[in-house]
Amino acid sequence: MTINKNSAKWMQLPRDVLVGHGVLEEIGDVCRDLKMKGNALIVTGSTTKNIAGKRVSNLLESAGCSAETVLTCKATTEDVEKVVENALEVKANFLLGVGSGRSIDLAKLASTRLELPFISVPTAASHDGIASSRASIVDNGRSTSAEAQAPIAVIADTEIISAAPFRFLAAGCGDIISNYTAVLDWELAGRLRNEYFGAYAAALSRMAARVIIECADSIKPEHETSARLVVKALVSNGVAMSIAGSSRPASGSEHMFSHALDKIAPKPALHGEQCGVGTIMMMYLHGGNWQEIREALKKIGAPVNAEELGIEDKYIIEALLHAHSIRPERYTILGSGLNPSAAEKVARITKVIN
Ligand SMILES: [Zn+2]
Repeated sequence: MTINKNSAKWMQLPRDVLVGHGVLEEIGDVCRDLKMKGNALIVTGSTTKNIAGKRVSNLLESAGCSAETVLTCKATTEDVEKVVENALEVKANFLLGVGSGRSIDLAKLASTRLELPFISVPTAASHDGIASSRASIVDNGRSTSAEAQAPIAVIADTEIISAAPFRFLAAGCGDIISNYTAVLDWELAGRLRNEYFGAYAAALSRMAARVIIECADSIKPEHETSARLVVKALVSNGVAMSIAGSSRPASGSEHMFSHALDKIAPKPALHGEQCGVGTIMMMYLHGGNWQEIREALKKIGAPVNAEELGIEDKYIIEALLHAHSIRPERYTILGSGLNPSAAEKVARITKVIN
């Protein structure tokens, strides 16, 4: 029987969270603290292997573990299968995802399947998957969000994260700011559909977005304090989702817009970048202060319009028209969908298209 951890009664949280300069060096201590020993399987990409994967491998070996590495290229169901097979081959006792999105998602899904613990070692702070129990996966050419386990530990070395291209950190801010409209959508579903609404998870989620908006001026490239702030907010998002028992506090209509763009646009932008732009428009639909969202994203240096996303206007409109059908069971401000003139109007008024 599978355990249903996806309920409001079961809150699965990371146990050890390390955020700071040089914390990667403490990975051996984390393993000792969590009584994790034996064989480790490191899931990493070709770039992130050089940034952190090799170091993780050496550190684990000096801590008395044996460490094997599997390189990822995509995040499809076949890739999850490959990681599972690799883990079985090396008789892995635990897995580590070392990278930005893909490697962490693959390690998360494979470890869930194998019922083994996994450690998240992000090399960039571009989305809240670094600490959450959900993973993005491409299944049959379609990108979906799958339920998985939360990491047992998160090791976020700000020296590494602040050296990653700034675009990733700015995208992470967009993913956090999107909590505002996600919570408004959740409240709406509570009122119109009598859906369970968790006030505590909602408050935590709003607070993370508020912190990023209030600190927008001080979020700068190659700045470890900025990386630290964003990582903490991303971890807090994972916690809010675990408390809610769903992704509701951090994913609403703006995420549906981003998922629609992933399907429709020939060259989608980063998840958090698209969610940020989605938040501007969904906040307008909610009748809220969309200008405040736009200003904050601008100050941070995240995209605020189609041009900055590198996506043509027509795909923005198309994504707005299709967003409500991405997750029909999730009620949002989009209701049963916008009509073409309303979609164009929201995009124009909020300056997303010209
Ligand atoms: Zn997100």
